[in-house]
Amino acid sequence: MVFFHIAFVLVCVVLLILLLCKNPSKAKKIFLTGQSGSVYLDTIQIYIEPRWEKRRHDNALWIDGFLRWQDWPMDDYSRRDDKMVKDDLCFACWELFCYICFLIIFLIQQNKMAKNKKFVYAFEEGNRDMKEILGGKGANLAEMKNLGINVPPGFTITTEACDFYYKNGKKISVEVREQTEKALQSLEKKMGKSLGDASDPLLVSVRSGAASSMPGMMDTILNLGLNDKSVEGLSKKTGNPRFAWDSYRRLIQMFGNVVMEMEHGEFEHILETVKKEKGAKYDTDLTAEDLQEIVIKYKSAIKKSKGVEFPQEPVKQLFSAVNAVFNSWNNYRAIRYREINNIKGLIGTAVNIQAMVFGNLGETSGTGVCFTRNPSTGERKFYGEYLMNAQGEDVVAGIRTPQPVSALAKQNPKIYKELVTVCNKVEKHYRDMQDMEFTIQDGVLYILQARNGKRTATAAVRVAVELVKEKVLSKAEAVMRVEPNQLNQLLHKQFDASALAKAEPIASGLPASPGAAVGEITFTAHEAFEKAKNGPVILVRTETSPEDIDGMHSAKGILTARGGMTSHAAVVARGMGTCCVAGCSEILIDEKNKTLTIKGKNQKFKEGDFISLDGTTGKVYAGKIATKDPELSGNFGTLMSWADSFRTMGVRTNADTPTDANVARRFGAEGIGLCRTEHMFFDENRIKAVREMILADDLESRKKALAKLLPYQKKDFVELFRAMDGFAVTVRLLDPPLHEFLPKEKKDIEELSREMKVPVKTLEDKIEDLHEFNPMLGHRGCRLAITYPEIYDMQAEAIILAAIDVTKGVGGKKVKNLVPEIMIPLVATTKEFTIIKDRIVEIVEREMKTAKVKLHYKIGTMIEVPRAALVADKLVLAGAEFFSFGTNDLTQMGAGLSRDDAGKFLKEYVAEGIYDQDPFEVLDQEGIGELIRIAIKKGRSVKKDLKVGICGEHGGEPKTVEFCHREGLTYVSCSPFRVPIARLAAAQAVLREKSKAKK
Ligand code: PEP
Ligand code: MG
Repeated sequence: MVFFHIAFVLVCVVLLILLLCKNPSKAKKIFLTGQSGSVYLDTIQIYIEPRWEKRRHDNALWIDGFLRWQDWPMDDYSRRDDKMVKDDLCFACWELFCYICFLIIFLIQQNKMAKNKKFVYAFEEGNRDMKEILGGKGANLAEMKNLGINVPPGFTITTEACDFYYKNGKKISVEVREQTEKALQSLEKKMGKSLGDASDPLLVSVRSGAASSMPGMMDTILNLGLNDKSVEGLSKKTGNPRFAWDSYRRLIQMFGNVVMEMEHGEFEHILETVKKEKGAKYDTDLTAEDLQEIVIKYKSAIKKSKGVEFPQEPVKQLFSAVNAVFNSWNNYRAIRYREINNIKGLIGTAVNIQAMVFGNLGETSGTGVCFTRNPSTGERKFYGEYLMNAQGEDVVAGIRTPQPVSALAKQNPKIYKELVTVCNKVEKHYRDMQDMEFTIQDGVLYILQARNGKRTATAAVRVAVELVKEKVLSKAEAVMRVEPNQLNQLLHKQFDASALAKAEPIASGLPASPGAAVGEITFTAHEAFEKAKNGPVILVRTETSPEDIDGMHSAKGILTARGGMTSHAAVVARGMGTCCVAGCSEILIDEKNKTLTIKGKNQKFKEGDFISLDGTTGKVYAGKIATKDPELSGNFGTLMSWADSFRTMGVRTNADTPTDANVARRFGAEGIGLCRTEHMFFDENRIKAVREMILADDLESRKKALAKLLPYQKKDFVELFRAMDGFAVTVRLLDPPLHEFLPKEKKDIEELSREMKVPVKTLEDKIEDLHEFNPMLGHRGCRLAITYPEIYDMQAEAIILAAIDVTKGVGGKKVKNLVPEIMIPLVATTKEFTIIKDRIVEIVEREMKTAKVKLHYKIGTMIEVPRAALVADKLVLAGAEFFSFGTNDLTQMGAGLSRDDAGKFLKEYVAEGIYDQDPFEVLDQEGIGELIRIAIKKGRSVKKDLKVGICGEHGGEPKTVEFCHREGLTYVSCSPFRVPIARLAAAQAVLREKSKAKK
């Protein structure tokens, strides 16, 4: 970019000199137009269009759009005289001068910024609070170094250097290069070796690490610094040629794949061919000579495919690797991972360069991954996997199935004890469960990484609760430790025990991520992604890789033949909350012919066959097994009760049936915030009466049809009131347009005509009559009641009759303190509200008088039309006793986005950053939130203690819940399964507010 500016200025200067050499007064045919008007410091924004154009019609030479900031309308140049030409020329010179000045300032500033900045930190210089610039891995390595833990020395190139790399046209700047070289020199000094030395080389690892953990999504290169000479040196120095050649082989493979962009499969093919030739089962069976042969083959494959040699200069290797890691920040899978996990606002990845320690030096060396507690269940039991004579990627990639870490206690009790001690120390320091990587080099233990371990929801809850019992955390801290959305996992289905008891497992693997999944077999991530659009799928793979991210995300379950509990499939599935059975060695996958065979049994499955996975036990079943809702553990209840003790906002549920209401009660709902009465109309027995009501030609027939509906509605309300046992129940009166209750298809219309004994033509005419171009803005909600008031009359009567019955205890249990809330939808004007409210009051009072019962009841309005928010004070003055924000419609109408169609383009809107998130999922706090703020302020200016809730889908979304708490809502209301999420989010909102106030 800078180069372009300089080139452009030079060209302009030459042109100006050329022009100035001529006498402008005589050069009538030369026009120079400079129209930029002003030049801003942010020169990158300037639209530059240097253009020479020879116009034949006036034989003039034009230099047009010299520096163009705005497209001013072109003047009529033919009418210009010499003075005007001179003026133009002066103006253009002035512009050029300004441009050059600003360019110089810009360059000086950039230069100064880069020069003063520290881009590289030795591990000793960092700490855990520097995640933003050192990335999670770098900050934790620094922290462990400070704790005195045996971490191999190294340094971190900051995330700011990555940011600068992209701003600098994807080039490592001179400053970053110089600081890296300096840090490398001091690392060499510390280690007493130099990178790539021919007799005793220092080897380093180059690893990515952003501020948010993105496991396996970015690139890593190990054993960097080896070349044709240093491999010999390493071989002699260690007396272990096999190790040296194995390390070199790994470097070429990783470097070739990551930096030189060779297909991973090409290297795998060479490796497998040599293994076959040599009769080697595992990589470890290959000799030094075999590995040497592989190295030669790898190098010639690179030369053949890329036309260049594998680089021999260690420093060149290093900077190419840093480049590649920076580039991997924006590879497809990293971008997708950030999208899926909603990771935003990061500037790039840091790069950690660390002296290599070797787990593949022989049988006294090894490598592993461990957790201070079980990441699946949360049990306080040291947990992990390791492999002797291996490097880290062997464990994670699932190439060899590792051993449980408990086996290390027998194999090397001293190291095991040391490992447990270090892990406990780190857990105590971070006050959280740790996920750590370790390497044993010739009997010496090194820790390569520590981070707060990713865990299932079950584990998250258990760890948080037990850390309180162990007096490590306070209850408030424990409540903050569980991510509300993660509870979704806990609330997911499990297999129905009796159905499961009858099923015979066909194979079993490792229980990598809990839950139950049933679906059609697919063998590739792409197919899984496509087929998941039409039904549930299970992704079956030999092993997964980061490229499979889309398919893994779409699948209901994942089954792999290889890999352990810390394999890619297991880690990613746990993070996503997707059921996963990993390392199921009893299955044989033929990807080409799309079959799955159970070894030793004559059972074969093909693509499209159904299987069921139990991620909690690791068992695999043929066909479909019935699933059921989960039972919640005691720890869950404990955490929820702590959350409730902090939360100040109520949590209700959106429920239309007693079943939903009961589920929600079990999940802790404190009432119903929205009962959509129309859902009650679709029942087989009622839809007929609803249709009769719609088809009725006059008031009398309409009333007759409605009278048939009344007992059903009353019964529904009785059941709901009883399920809620005195908690508030908000019943919303009929909302959707009436055409939704009539069929659309010809054959359904004909069937209805037979059933109702009404001519097809009459039905078709009615459907035509009800047709609207924009039904969501049409004849629905309270507008129905303005034209057909008898509909709401019936509903109001049913509500109050039900309330009277349950209060008296008619036909069942008595409910105390019942205060039914009647809610009018889609109100936009005060008049609408007054007309409808007055009728409801009349009916309710009449029925209470008849029954000789006096009940408290409330009539309120939904705020879902922007106009209602703007006249909220007037609505309260008109008698609205509560508000409930219908944020689905409020978003639709406030942002002008169709609820039903916007999905087609919203993804792109989110990708472009126009909206941070889908506004129908996460409330647009800036826009729709402002309407809510206005309505609350206006409403409460009239009635200070006005009850205000939210019942749109946003009511169970944690960020929106926090917003609702901040804005002083009385309650949020959400679907039953989101009630615990809302409870936890509401508690966290209070705790976050308190912690902010303290600061
Ligand atoms: C809303 O609009 O937010 C709402 C709760 O009503 P519905 O989704 O039924 O239109
Ligand atoms: Mg609505």
